[in-house]
Amino acid sequence: ATPISIMVGVGRGARSGVLIKDAEALERMEKVDVLVVDKTGTLTEGRPSVTAVVTVPGTDEDRVLGLAAAVEQVSEHPLARAVLAAARDRGLEPSAVDDFDAVAGRGVTGTVDGHRVLVGTSELLADAGLDPRPDGTAGVDLAARAEQERASGATAVFVAVDDRAIGLLAVADPVKAGTPDALRDLRADGVRVVMLTGDNPTTARAVADRLGIDEVEAGVLPDRKGEVVQQLQSAGQVVAMAGDGVNDAPALAAADVGLAMSTGTDVAIESAGITLLHGDLAGIATARRLSTRVMRNIR
Ligand code: ADP
Ligand code: MG
Repeated sequence: ATPISIMVGVGRGARSGVLIKDAEALERMEKVDVLVVDKTGTLTEGRPSVTAVVTVPGTDEDRVLGLAAAVEQVSEHPLARAVLAAARDRGLEPSAVDDFDAVAGRGVTGTVDGHRVLVGTSELLADAGLDPRPDGTAGVDLAARAEQERASGATAVFVAVDDRAIGLLAVADPVKAGTPDALRDLRADGVRVVMLTGDNPTTARAVADRLGIDEVEAGVLPDRKGEVVQQLQSAGQVVAMAGDGVNDAPALAAADVGLAMSTGTDVAIESAGITLLHGDLAGIATARRLSTRVMRNIR
């Protein structure tokens, strides 16, 4: 490739917020058939906030939120920040946590004031032998409430204490302002869009519907994202991957073009050939246009 036209492309990219570290990523960008895209922090702001606290009889919102915050204070997950902010807003001082453990793609556990606390998905509870449906107690069906919250695009975070589900937090993460236009431009350019997320299928579907994305894989555990990229490649597709998280790093590295959000984790940025300033997804279409220009100059 002619280094000069690539340098010009890299310079133009930088001026429009597309930081190109790997010149080959720029060369390959025009050939991309499929964009695999992470949901949380990539399509969405990644700044979730608690929008509802649901409790079972015999407990109250502050207890549910306070116990959740106590465990989450050690977690680096965006959901953890939302829980802590909500607790702080209510003036709650979370207790210390012992025996903290993070379960990838599921949630967190720990001991708070001598109580065993679980905070996370229904699978996290199920793996511990817990059922979020309290048997008949005054009729609060947490599982049904969770499904309602998911249908509106929120993530349901269950809170269990000493083998009993005591409530749930609904956490909502708004779609980035630029996401719908960015996806529209890519689709108009013939790029197929596939959303991958560790989040629940109902939440994932609600967000995807809002963005006109047909292909969704939800409940994805960290190793799976890289596998999906490789499967698409084996089927002959040129694949771009956009993501921000630690769990996106293998997929970003495996993709023909990895696009990290500048707002994301360091390991995502290190694994990607291109970084989008301010996590602005319009940069993906910009990178494609630059790629076409650069390659036209070279040919
Ligand atoms: P993604 O960033 O792709 O949505 P993750 O693998 O980070 O996925 O998380 C998957 C799901 O696991 C989250 O949607 C959430 O329900 C649950 N989870 C993960 N970490 C936490 C946490 N610290 N607190 C509560 N829930 C969590
Ligand atoms: Mg993410």
